[in-house]
Amino acid sequence: MFEGNLVLGVSLTQSVVRSEMTGEKRGVPPEILQQIRDRIDIIDLISTYVSLSKAGQNFKGLCPFHSEKTPSFSVNPVRQMFYCFGCSVGGDAFTFLMKQEGMDFMEALRELSQRTGVALPEGRESAGKTASGLSRERYFHLYQLAASWYHRNLQDNPEGQIARDYLDQRGITRESWNAFKLGFVPEGWNGLSKWLEQQSVKPEELIQAGLVVRKESEDGTRISTYDRFRDRVMFPITDPRGQVVGFGGRILKDGASPKYLNSPETDLFFKGRSLYGMDKARQSATASGRFYLVEGYFDVIALHQNGIENAVAPLGTALTSDHVQILRRLAPSVMLVFDGDAAGIGAALRTLDLFMNSGIEVRVLLLPSGEDPDTFIRKNGVAGFRELERKAATLLDFAIMSVLSKAKKDSIQDRVKRADEILAILHKTKNPIEKEEYLKVVSERLGIRQDLLNKRLPTLPRQVNADPSAKGKEQPGPNLSIPQGKPEERDLIVLLLQGRLEPDQIRQLDEGAFTVPLYRHILGKAFQHADEEGHLNLNALHAEFSEDPAYEPVISRLSVGEYNCDEVSIHVAGCLRVLKEKQIQRLMDEVISQLKVAQREGRQDLVDALVAESNVLRQKKAFLTAST
Ligand SMILES: [Zn+2]
Repeated sequence: MFEGNLVLGVSLTQSVVRSEMTGEKRGVPPEILQQIRDRIDIIDLISTYVSLSKAGQNFKGLCPFHSEKTPSFSVNPVRQMFYCFGCSVGGDAFTFLMKQEGMDFMEALRELSQRTGVALPEGRESAGKTASGLSRERYFHLYQLAASWYHRNLQDNPEGQIARDYLDQRGITRESWNAFKLGFVPEGWNGLSKWLEQQSVKPEELIQAGLVVRKESEDGTRISTYDRFRDRVMFPITDPRGQVVGFGGRILKDGASPKYLNSPETDLFFKGRSLYGMDKARQSATASGRFYLVEGYFDVIALHQNGIENAVAPLGTALTSDHVQILRRLAPSVMLVFDGDAAGIGAALRTLDLFMNSGIEVRVLLLPSGEDPDTFIRKNGVAGFRELERKAATLLDFAIMSVLSKAKKDSIQDRVKRADEILAILHKTKNPIEKEEYLKVVSERLGIRQDLLNKRLPTLPRQVNADPSAKGKEQPGPNLSIPQGKPEERDLIVLLLQGRLEPDQIRQLDEGAFTVPLYRHILGKAFQHADEEGHLNLNALHAEFSEDPAYEPVISRLSVGEYNCDEVSIHVAGCLRVLKEKQIQRLMDEVISQLKVAQREGRQDLVDALVAESNVLRQKKAFLTAST
């Protein structure tokens, strides 16, 4: 992106407002600010959130501030600034932290002073309250304290034997205890609060932090408090920088509930955006280009202690589009690792909508039913795991095959139903080639002709934004280009888009005769903007395409491009005839291949029907040839 670099030079010096100009310095000595600026490595800072790769003088990556599939987010290590050509957000390290983490200037300053080791003057170390009323620093401090108390309990509290036994039985090593700072909280209502109060933590701070639950008596006269977590193995949850922001706790008593309990959400802890293990997985994921998305805490740890460090898990909640965006910014591919039982298969399938068109290459690694990564690797070693990984199907493949596997071969209704299920899945993909390939497979497997499947494939406007929480404008998906070959299809579409077809010519266009998905899509849309006489409302058609970034460029090219032919009507008639001939030939080929299958399977009634069909087609073809 040579152009991008040129523009970046201008933008960074001229149009980006440095945060030092925003007047939020609040009396921080300029030399301190300068020292911090001199020592910041903005590449290092931003790499915590975005996978950056070198591109000329800059580094590029997917913008964390808007949704995109091709990188337009640039970071310049010399100027220590970033700029996004997609959403025009830019600035320095301070701006980045303020935008990314929702910090104010002083909070960003304190964060950067910690990162760079430049001490701030007295009295600048605290300020800025979060919504809970605690400052970010205080919040982090309390969670850090709690984590260390839980961790010590796991190591040497006599009551912790049950937790130690449990972790041993789950195959968690002592190294992992330490790496993940695992903990234990004994039974009792106020173990943590008592201990924290000895560390000069005020009771109201414990409530603000969500570590303690406040309860009013029924008549409202007395207020009592108790520790949120009791008798559990504790998993500290960190932000991408490794600071503890919440906990997950697994109950130790059999049958007690809830089995897993999370800290309440705060303005520093959102379940829908947190992925367990991210702070440890990030580096290895950006280096390898892949995340392993597993089901829970233990799976992350099991893979980690087997040397697979790029594993993360949602926090016992469903995967969200925020999760998908976070993963995508750091790595281009994701391996879903699920138990192969019905629940695991269902869980894998539920991610389809989120991952479809996300730009992430997703594969599904199904463990044998009833296994988790730990039990599987213990039996089969990492090599066995890698073997499954090599065989992992793409998510789309997986989804389609799981529908196909349910199809009852001898029931036409069932096959049609399955076909519709698959078409509903395929309808979501924006990739016309992928769609075409799968239709072929489905047609063969279900014995339903491909042109019939094509006809059933809805031509209704696709949900362009399947991801409701995606912010900002969606960038173009697959880069559509004008396909080579099929000149008769191309010419008809060009003439259609340029308004050079007569209504009766438009009426002769048959969507089923076109084979190029792009052209068929254009035609489908055009018919929606045609009246009964066949008059096409070109303006409405163009307006609709101009809203779809995937189609806009190629439609513009087809509509505006120079196109000369002397006798439009003769040329159109020729194109229509070639189109028809090819369509008949395709139908004949299909009928013949089905005929072979029917003969092999000895289904005489089907054979007879197909022979009759092929005779009709042969006559039609002969008629077409004779009429020219
Ligand atoms: Zn952007």
